[in-house]
Amino acid sequence: MTQYRSTRDEQQQTLSASQAILQGLAPDNGLYVPATFPKLKRPLADLMTLNYQDLALEILHLFLDDYSTDELKQCLQAAYGDQFDTAKITPVKIAGDLNYLELFHGPTSAFKDIALQLLPHLMTTAMQKNQATDKVVILTATSGDTGKAAMAGFADVPDTQIIVFYPKDGVSAIQKQQMVTQAGANVAVFGIDGNFDDAQTTVKHILNDSKINTTLAASQHRFSSANSINIGRLVPQIVYYFAAYQQLVQHETIQLNDEVVFSVPTGNFGDILAGWYAKRLGLPIKRLICASNENNVLTDFFKTGCYDRQRAFHVTTSPSMDILVSSNLERLLFEVLGEDPKALNNFMTEFETKGKAQLDATSYKRLSDFVAYSADETQTLTEIRQTQTNALYTIDPHTAVASFAAHQYLAETQETAPIIVLSTANPYKFPETVLHALTQHQPLETGFEALKALSNVIDLKVPRNIKRLMTAEVLHDQAISVDDMATTVLKTVK
Ligand SMILES: *Cc1c(COP(=O)(O)O)cnc(C)c1O
Repeated sequence: MTQYRSTRDEQQQTLSASQAILQGLAPDNGLYVPATFPKLKRPLADLMTLNYQDLALEILHLFLDDYSTDELKQCLQAAYGDQFDTAKITPVKIAGDLNYLELFHGPTSAFKDIALQLLPHLMTTAMQKNQATDKVVILTATSGDTGKAAMAGFADVPDTQIIVFYPKDGVSAIQKQQMVTQAGANVAVFGIDGNFDDAQTTVKHILNDSKINTTLAASQHRFSSANSINIGRLVPQIVYYFAAYQQLVQHETIQLNDEVVFSVPTGNFGDILAGWYAKRLGLPIKRLICASNENNVLTDFFKTGCYDRQRAFHVTTSPSMDILVSSNLERLLFEVLGEDPKALNNFMTEFETKGKAQLDATSYKRLSDFVAYSADETQTLTEIRQTQTNALYTIDPHTAVASFAAHQYLAETQETAPIIVLSTANPYKFPETVLHALTQHQPLETGFEALKALSNVIDLKVPRNIKRLMTAEVLHDQAISVDDMATTVLKTVK
C-alpha cells in the first residue's frame, strides 16, 4: 500500500491516499508525500502504446492504491472525455528546435484542467470509501486560472459545492468572463474589492476558523482544498510526462530509453514536481528546467541553495507564475533533506520567520536533476515573436518563459537530448500580450477586441470554450468587500 505522511510530522503517522486527498493540507500545515515512493509495475516499453486514460490508470494505481481499478476507471472516464478537444488529451507539437507539450486542450484552455477535471471525482470517490456522509465545500481564492478550472471541474458534481473569490479588478477580461459565466447549481463566484493576497489570506482564515467549521459541521458540510498542495492534484500531472515521452517515441524523435529534457513554466512548483516524480518512477528524464518570470526566487534557489523570498513582487504578463513562495517546493526540500521531518521543520521555520533559509552543501548537491533560468518581460515578448517567426507556432506568455529558458539552456550546454517545453495555456487566454509581442507595440484593443485582432494575425483557431464566452450569459455579478467574505461563505453553503 502507498501510504502518505506529512512532510512536517516527526511522529511519521500515515494515512491512505483517499484520506490524504480529503485532508488536502496536513493538520500540521505540512504536505502529504508517499511514505515509500512507488515503483512502476510494468516495463516502460509496455506503457508506450497505451492511450491517455489507460496510461493514467497505470500511474494513478501506483499512488492511489486504495482506489480499486474500477473506481479509478470511472473517475478517468468522467475526467478525460469529450470536454477535451483532442483524444490525445496532451498532444506534443514539434516547432523549430523544441517540442511543445500542449496541456491546454481542456474546458478552460489552461493546464490546470488536467488535474482539476479529475480531482472532483477522486474526492467524491474518497468520501464514499471513507464513509463520509457530509458534503465537501471547496473554497478557492484565484488570480485567474485556478478558479475557473476548479469551477469547471466541480460544476454539478454531486455532494460538492464550490465557492471562488477573485480580485474584481485583478484578473484579465477573458478570465473574468470565464468565471462570471460559469454554470452549475453548486457553483458560486464573487469578485472582491481587494487584491489576490487579500483573497488568499482571508480564504486561509476562513478555512481555519473553528467557529465557521463548527457551523459547517452542524449542517453536514466540511471544507476541502482544490489547491495544488492536494496530492490528488499532483498525481494526475505525472501522467502527461509519460504521455509526452510516448509521443516522442512514436514520432521516432527518440528511441525507447533515450533521455529527454523538460522545461516547465513554474509558479507553485506543482507542475515541475510531477515531472520529478515521473523521473523517480524511471522515466528517462535527464534534466528538468525550472523556468521563472521576473519573480525569480526559484532561479536563485537552484543556483545557490538559498531560498529567499525577500524581494519586490513583480506583476508580469505571466500572472499564474507571479509567486514568491512556491508551496510545492516543500515536497522537494523534504527529499533533499533526507526525508527528515525535523530538518524540514527547521528549514521551513527559518524561512517563515526570517524570509530566507540556506540549504547545506550535501542537500544542495541532491538538486542536480534541476537547472533554472528566468525570463524578464522583454525576453518573454521576444520569445513569443521569435517562435512565431522561426517556427510558425504561437505560444502564450507562460509557455514563452519556459521556451526562453530552454533556448538559454541549449545555448549554454549544447544539449543533444530533445527538449520538451510544457505549454500551459492557449495563447487566446492572453491576447493582449501575444498581440503586443507579434506586432511589437502595445495594442489599443483589450479583451475580446484583442482576441479578434489576434485571430486575424495567426492561424490558430479560437477554442470553442473561449468563443462561447462572447455570448454567454453572466450568471455571477456579485462584488463584495473582503470583510464580508466569511458571512458570504456561510450564506452560500447549502
Ligand atoms: C498555474 C500555472 C502555471 C504554474 O504551474 P505551477 O504548478 O503552479 O508551477 C504556469 N502556467 C499557467 C498558465 C498556469 O495556469
